[in-house]
Amino acid sequence: MLTKDAVAKIRNSDLNGGVLVMKSIPSEELFVVISVETSRDVRVPVDIPTEYSKLRWGDITHPAQWMRPSRPDLHVRHRAMIRRPGTGISFEGFHELVPGVSDPGNGLGLMVTHDPGLSVEAREFGASEFAGWLVQRTGVEPISLVIEPEVVGIGQLASLWPIEQLKAHSVILVGCGSIGGAAAEALAGYGIGRIELIDPDRFLWHNMVRHVLGAESVGRRKVDALKDHLKERWPNLHVETRRLDVVADAHLVRPLVDGVDLVLCAADGIAPRRVVSHLSRRAGKPSVLACVLDDGAIGEVIRLRPTPRFGCLLCHRQHLSDQGTLDPEADQELAYGTGQVHKPMTAVPPDLHYIGTLMAKIAIATLLESLHGDHTQRLPGEYALLGLRPARLYQAPFDLQKAGEIRWLSIPAPRPTCFTCGSA
Ligand SMILES: [Zn+2]
Repeated sequence: MLTKDAVAKIRNSDLNGGVLVMKSIPSEELFVVISVETSRDVRVPVDIPTEYSKLRWGDITHPAQWMRPSRPDLHVRHRAMIRRPGTGISFEGFHELVPGVSDPGNGLGLMVTHDPGLSVEAREFGASEFAGWLVQRTGVEPISLVIEPEVVGIGQLASLWPIEQLKAHSVILVGCGSIGGAAAEALAGYGIGRIELIDPDRFLWHNMVRHVLGAESVGRRKVDALKDHLKERWPNLHVETRRLDVVADAHLVRPLVDGVDLVLCAADGIAPRRVVSHLSRRAGKPSVLACVLDDGAIGEVIRLRPTPRFGCLLCHRQHLSDQGTLDPEADQELAYGTGQVHKPMTAVPPDLHYIGTLMAKIAIATLLESLHGDHTQRLPGEYALLGLRPARLYQAPFDLQKAGEIRWLSIPAPRPTCFTCGSA
């Protein structure tokens, strides 16, 4: 393997060949170039970024060479031979093509050839600027050489996904539990620029089974542990952490809502959802609320948009009640004010991650459609119900019949008397 830095050192060298030092990782059958002779007798160590920790494993080194071949078709031949395992060239034959190759004696030589003038035809054939060779007196075999691309990570999506637009957006995520953790990962994966994590709780042993975080995070604040987890995978993501309770600290959360484009709420319990609905509506920001109902039988994701067409969470809940539907969310409410700890998210872990990912999808689609007019991201409705372990006993609209079923519905217009939706 060649990191970008090794590639640059070979490309920029005035020599036609020189010494390479490779690190050998026998358990992975892998060689990594760790130093390059760039000028006569000057060997420069190659930068291997710390995040590629496995490429930095081990300390067995293996001498090797790099050369610019004298014949233009060498890399085409390399490509042809790689496609037919077991084929190779005699050492003498290879020596004619690459006169500088060292005699490996009875040992094993490694060679990287660099052809800076590769023709368009050769590239179309699949030949690359760099090729690897295993050199023995009994014959020379092509080996595959993997080069670190110029762009890795979210930037690779640039031709098919609006990463530049999303990089400019920010969201608040209230609740960093099982759904919230999965939503945060998905938001990062979609390429959101900044996430503000809000949660007052610690990550404890009982959280581990359902969470994207693992044993290494036990005892830490959820917001801080989740931030580290996200930054490790998406180093360019901006993450802010707030150890706040969205209900008790609503006055501190309110100004934060003004600074973002959308609010997600994956917090457990009805009170945080009501606060998020209220604060985001008053700030003129859309919000997306997700939870599971009835011990994880049904998943629910609601999008609340601050427009005259759609009401807030309370308007929606009142509408269900007016229809005569028992609100399964009200179960959660019972525990509030009773001093009991309300029921935690009780679904099985991947079901919660599924809801978290869908919630992130809905949030991202909302940003792209409403702020950028991207109609490919238009959603079927404002309110999604998902069958996880549907018991078929609920009233409409919760009467999902099948696991995996998704029902999209709208939500009603604001009630005339609504304090949240009413004019300021
Ligand atoms: Zn309302």
